[in-house]
Amino acid sequence: MAAEPLRAVRDDLLSGDSGLEPDMQKAFVSRVDDLIEAIDSADKALSRLPHPSVADAAAKMAHLFYASGRGWRRYVAESPLSPERAEELRTAVRSSAEPILGYLGRMLAQRETVRVTQRGDGAYGLPCAACGADAVTLSMTRASPGVSPQLVVSSLSPVTVFRPMTGPRMNDVIKLLDAGVVEAVVHHLRETQPGGCDAWCEVCRRVYCKTHFAIEAQWSGSWHEATYATCPLGHEHEID
Ligand SMILES: [Zn+2]
Ligand SMILES: [Zn+2]
Repeated sequence: MAAEPLRAVRDDLLSGDSGLEPDMQKAFVSRVDDLIEAIDSADKALSRLPHPSVADAAAKMAHLFYASGRGWRRYVAESPLSPERAEELRTAVRSSAEPILGYLGRMLAQRETVRVTQRGDGAYGLPCAACGADAVTLSMTRASPGVSPQLVVSSLSPVTVFRPMTGPRMNDVIKLLDAGVVEAVVHHLRETQPGGCDAWCEVCRRVYCKTHFAIEAQWSGSWHEATYATCPLGHEHEID
């Protein structure tokens, strides 16, 4: 059975000596159940024969990273749970996820290199390495007739949804898009654009779509502080 370390933490929480009030104990157990469920489902998706589903497993792992992410870690830190137990919980998440991540990583690595998708009419997509859906869309638009065209690049950010580019930098990107090599397009965007290409995981060297990143925005009231994206293999980067 997968997620043994998390199951042990769950039993421990239920044994009642966690020092948590009943309501909070319930909240902890339910979150740990959610994490166990994510790992079990990812495990099942990868063991599905004859067609293991990398896309399903990756989505479950992204959910795991979201549910055990910054928001949750802050909640745990502010709870009366002792630091030792909080650390046990963190370790249990890591060690429960490890075997799945190893397998998922190998399966992602075996997939064919994805190429830029030509959508016609000046539109392109960079396919997600886990599911093939567009992780980034790039579309030529003209705000009004006679105005010079711009290339609108999508973003994972909930704040800056689209980033336009124009002029010579845009023409260079279009040449690279027509050549079809995703990594070359991403490299150019990262070199020349303030927001870069936020769907790129630098460790995996792949792009993933919104379903396959855990995206956590941090707000302080209505003020956006930062947004973080964690890929299905657990690599986090700040996106704005
Ligand atoms: Zn995807
Ligand atoms: Zn990654």
